[in-house]
Amino acid sequence: MNNNRVNERSINTILVTGGAGFIGSHIVDRLMDTGCKVIVFDNFSSGQMEFIEHHLDNVNFSLIKGDLLNTGEIDAACNGVDLVYHAAANPDVRLGAVDTKVHFEQNITATYNLLEAMRKNAVPNVAFTSTSTVYGEATTIPTPEEYGPLVPISLYGASKLACEALITSYSHTFDMHSWIFRFANIVGDRGTHGIIVDFIEKLRDDPDHLEILGDGRQSKSYLHVDDCVDGILFAVEHSDETVNIFNVGSEDTIDATGIGRIVVEEMGLKDIEFSYTGGKRGWKGDVPRMLLAIDEMRKLGWEPSYTSADSVRDTARVLIVSL
Ligand code: NAD
Repeated sequence: MNNNRVNERSINTILVTGGAGFIGSHIVDRLMDTGCKVIVFDNFSSGQMEFIEHHLDNVNFSLIKGDLLNTGEIDAACNGVDLVYHAAANPDVRLGAVDTKVHFEQNITATYNLLEAMRKNAVPNVAFTSTSTVYGEATTIPTPEEYGPLVPISLYGASKLACEALITSYSHTFDMHSWIFRFANIVGDRGTHGIIVDFIEKLRDDPDHLEILGDGRQSKSYLHVDDCVDGILFAVEHSDETVNIFNVGSEDTIDATGIGRIVVEEMGLKDIEFSYTGGKRGWKGDVPRMLLAIDEMRKLGWEPSYTSADSVRDTARVLIVSL
């Protein structure tokens, strides 16, 4: 049996919830190189088989088509697991303004069900994909992990903050270790949602004109998925508190108009008219300015290799071909 060690913990079997999704499937790719047994648990609501099918013949890989809202399915999946990467969620921030239940169920209830399954099966470690939106409209930028009070302005951000609270309290009450990663906007190959995908689709529908939500000056940090996965695996390996909380982002920002320009260039289009829906936000719950302080990750020894603009450009190039 393989005996990988993470901070003196023996890690042989890793469960990845949402492992067929955008970020989850990249986590799986990296974990498959460690020699651990990797189990993907996914209901394929947005996950895609093509993101993981290259592992199907590997004896170290297994797939469970299951739903975190089905407690029997997730209880069974946690049997014998040493570490969970919990990436399953509904990540659509905009949806909360029209459907108030989806993030409550898919994020909070789903995370509670996972933690209960972990508790019953004595699974000792969990790494969670949280978000910058837990900070709300932070007045300190770059925003450090100790920033407070945390006042999310989207139901998505609220649901992720609730998940964080469940995870920290389970960690202290039931002797688990946890890693909470507050991500900037993650972009890259297999991306299925977000501003770059929206712009490519809009420009395919109308190659003369690009509508940008808000005033186009929303300025945010974008991190390449390769950097993201590199960072979270590195942090799990190199930090060992009961609860470990890290921002994971790039060190600069790009605004929505700048992203529009890059996508237009990469699609080889010219003389595109940009129009704006107006207002400082793209939608209700949108945080117009986001940049995370990543000093804690730097102290561990990790730093991003892409800027925001490079992350966006590389993603646009790949998605223009694959979408
Ligand atoms: P994604 O939609 O591609 O991945 C989510 C995966 O979870 C999908 O494969 C989906 O099928 C699965 N899933 C959803 N609900 C499930 C359920 N009830 N049971 C089992 N599987 C379920 O999204 P993503 O962008 O890869 O996001 C992954 C994680 O990272 C999410 O938790 C998201 O909130 C978080 N995150 C993403 C970003 C980003 O910019 N993409 C930023 C911050 C945080």
